[in-house]
Amino acid sequence: MTNSDSAATAAAAEFGAADLLREAAGRAERYLAGLEARAVFPTAAALAGLSAFDEPLPATPQDARATLALLDEAGSPATVASAGQRYFGFVTGGSLPVTVAANWLATAWDQNGGPALGSPVAAKLEQVALGWLVQALGLPAEAGGGFVTGATMANFAGLAAARHALLRRKGWDVEAQGLFGAPPLTVVVGEEVHVSLLKALGLLGLGRERVVRAPVDGEGRMRAEALPALTDTTVVCIQAGNVNNGAFDPAEAIIARARAAGAWVHVDGAFGLWAAAAPGRAHLMAGYAEADSWATDAHKWLNVPYDSGLAFTRRAADLRGAMSHNQAAYLLAGDERVPMEYTPEMSRRARGIEVWAALRTLGRDGLAEMIERCCQLAARLAEGLRAAGFEVLNEVALNQVLVSFGEAEDTRRVMRELQMEGTGWAGTTVWHGRTAMRISVSSWATTEADAEQLVKTLTRLARG
Ligand SMILES: *Cc1c(COP(=O)(O)O)cnc(C)c1O
Repeated sequence: MTNSDSAATAAAAEFGAADLLREAAGRAERYLAGLEARAVFPTAAALAGLSAFDEPLPATPQDARATLALLDEAGSPATVASAGQRYFGFVTGGSLPVTVAANWLATAWDQNGGPALGSPVAAKLEQVALGWLVQALGLPAEAGGGFVTGATMANFAGLAAARHALLRRKGWDVEAQGLFGAPPLTVVVGEEVHVSLLKALGLLGLGRERVVRAPVDGEGRMRAEALPALTDTTVVCIQAGNVNNGAFDPAEAIIARARAAGAWVHVDGAFGLWAAAAPGRAHLMAGYAEADSWATDAHKWLNVPYDSGLAFTRRAADLRGAMSHNQAAYLLAGDERVPMEYTPEMSRRARGIEVWAALRTLGRDGLAEMIERCCQLAARLAEGLRAAGFEVLNEVALNQVLVSFGEAEDTRRVMRELQMEGTGWAGTTVWHGRTAMRISVSSWATTEADAEQLVKTLTRLARG
């Protein structure tokens, strides 16, 4: 070792884990406290400041405290303030304070959430959280579930379970034999299917373009009466919450037809599934509990940190059959739940901990209130924008608002100016051929004042 090596090692030792954690806590606290005042998207100066990271790989150990300082000083300004209250882009959600805190403690634990012996506490909390989720989301009590990275992987897992179950009934073991020579499966999706579901189909060998697209109505909802013929080798993919307008496919009518044919129904409910948790919105979820598999995100509307998605199947054995590495063992019933037998991953972070912390802290009422509040703020935004003379393009039944400020270029200009001003952030989408600003209210932190301010800002920009 050279002198400078030993000096750096000594400095690192002097500034140990306890000091680093305190330092990180202080920096994180200041970051969150500053969110309200800062630009929602990083300024040009902050982006330029990222060049501070363009260093050669250090040859020798560095002071850990300096690493943390660089991360904060160059990194924090270049974040998107999606943890804050004025972020309305995509469907993002913030992070409840208790979930950030639980995440820190769990990170200190550094548990492997996958194997049975990886972490007794993680396995326990995931089991408790699954039980609570099934209740809160109104899913069948016997449903099985897995903690995945997001709704894309939750769609993947749900569709893998569908593939497993439908082919198994035909005497085909798809996990062992693959799809070569298997009885063909037909996948039906709505015209408004989310791209992540198509991606999942591609990964599963079911084909992004091999799908049958069912027609939709003016709100993007699948028309049950216009479904193609269904059989016992059909997977019907329905949506609880269209990513643009929040619309729900008519589950009751579609599932009744699917049941009669022996088809499988998979639900992409990345954010919409949470409507079930709010009594005032639960009617939107009517019939959805009769499906066979469900995908949702906890990092969206439950407001836990990234990454956190959830896959459920009506019969736990179907998810396990598709995901277990041990095809012989999964048939043995009654053993302890092994988390990695329900997810594509083996080793993974114990992401159920934040889900547990959110539910444990919010309770049923707190969860309902958070979902309902977002929906009410969306309705208020829509009213305010309409009153200001702008056209709201969707029925605002959930948390999504699509608004046009005139021609496509007008809407894009308002978006650019809002983003540049940094007082809020929303993007645009194309809805039925028209360019619209898509405003999503999905953060626990967004207030009435934030919604009112956004209406005022957009009105000023649109008229300016
Ligand atoms: C966000 C979203 C997805 C994808 O979720 P990820 O968490 O980004 O993987 C899928 N479907 C819908 C409807 C969504 O809104």
